[in-house]
Parts: sequence; C-alpha cells; structure tokens
Amino acid sequence: MLNIVIFGPPGSGKGTQSEKLIEKYALTHISTGDILRNEIETGTKLGDNAKQYINKGLLVPDEIIIGMIENKISEIKNQTKGVIFDGFPRTVQQAKALKEMLTKRGETIDLMLYLEVCREELIKRLSKRSQTSGRADDTPETIENRLKVYEEITSPVMEFYKQEGTYRCISKTGSVEEIFHEIEIIVDKY
Ligand code: AMP
Repeated sequence: MLNIVIFGPPGSGKGTQSEKLIEKYALTHISTGDILRNEIETGTKLGDNAKQYINKGLLVPDEIIIGMIENKISEIKNQTKGVIFDGFPRTVQQAKALKEMLTKRGETIDLMLYLEVCREELIKRLSKRSQTSGRADDTPETIENRLKVYEEITSPVMEFYKQEGTYRCISKTGSVEEIFHEIEIIVDKY
C-alpha cells in the first residue's frame, strides 16, 4: 500500500497533480472537495449542510468530514494499491483522526507532499480559474477567505507530518510536468 496526502493551499495544483499520480501509480483518489460538491449536486442532506460553509470559503466541520472519510475508506477496503488524500486533512484534528483510522487497518500515511506556491501566484491562478470553473467558492471574496482559513487553520497540519517524518516539500516552480517530475522522484523511492 502507498498512501499519500497531497497538501497545499487552494490553487496549489493538488487536483492536477493527483490526477497524474493516479494515472502513473494506479492509486485511488479521495478528494473531500469533490465528494462534497457531488453531495451538493445530488441534493443530499450532507450536501445541503456543507453548502453553507463551502460558499463562504469556510471549512466544513471536522465531524462531518471525518465521518465521510471513514465511509469512503471502508468502501474501498483492500481493493486498491493505495490512496491519494486530496484536500484532506485540513485540520490537525482531521490528521489525527486519519492516523487512527489507518492504524486500525494496519496502514499509515507514507508521504505528505506539500505543494509550495506563493500567495500572489495562488490569487492569480484562483482568479483565472473563477472565470471558467463555475464553482460557487471561486469568487474574489471567497478566495480571500479560503486563503485566510488555509493560513490560520490548515497550515499547522504541516507540523503534524513533519513530526511524523513523512513531510516532503515540493517548492519547484514551472510547468505541471516539471512539478510532477519532482514528485515522481520522491514517490519512486517507495
Ligand atoms: P477543495 O475542492 O478541496 O478546495 O474544497 C472546497 C471546499 O470544500 C473547501 O473550501 C471547504 O469548504 C470544503 N472542504 C473540502 N475538504 C475539506 C476538509 N478536509 N475539511 C473541511 N472542509 C473541507
């Protein structure tokens, strides 16, 4: 099993790099943002509840997210070579809960890949994305909020994985392919 957390601020390219990782290493993608957007689209109670947070650029409460991940992990069972967690964990509590869930299954997070991108570049990318994504949370006001939430609540998750010894920083700038090449070098060691 190869379990990876792909981590970084909104707009850092987690989704894009996850797609490439899945393709190359045949891993299962778990994106909490995608799951939530799907719940909203299908009009479930969970989706209705989550929408009020997402549209303001706030985090959906931990208990909802952790429950969602627990379901997803038991759905996959052992039918995968490993999982890419994208957009999760976003709080230290979520990181601790994930560790507990995996430990019970005799598994662990092998790598935490942090995609480092400067704030100006993130704003540029997210503003550009807002013109085509159709996402309710890609508006200028929400973008600012999401970056603030990332800096204040999510970035401490890095410290958790530094202590776990699995933190790796991808600070390279360049094309999607150039950044993926850096990632491959790290992942291939596993
Ligand atoms: P994303 O597509 O990963 O940028 O997520 C979009 C939005 O979904 C976030 O801004 C949050 O409101 C919510 N969300 C996604 N993942 C999480 C998470 N792990 N914890 C709390 N909220 C989340």
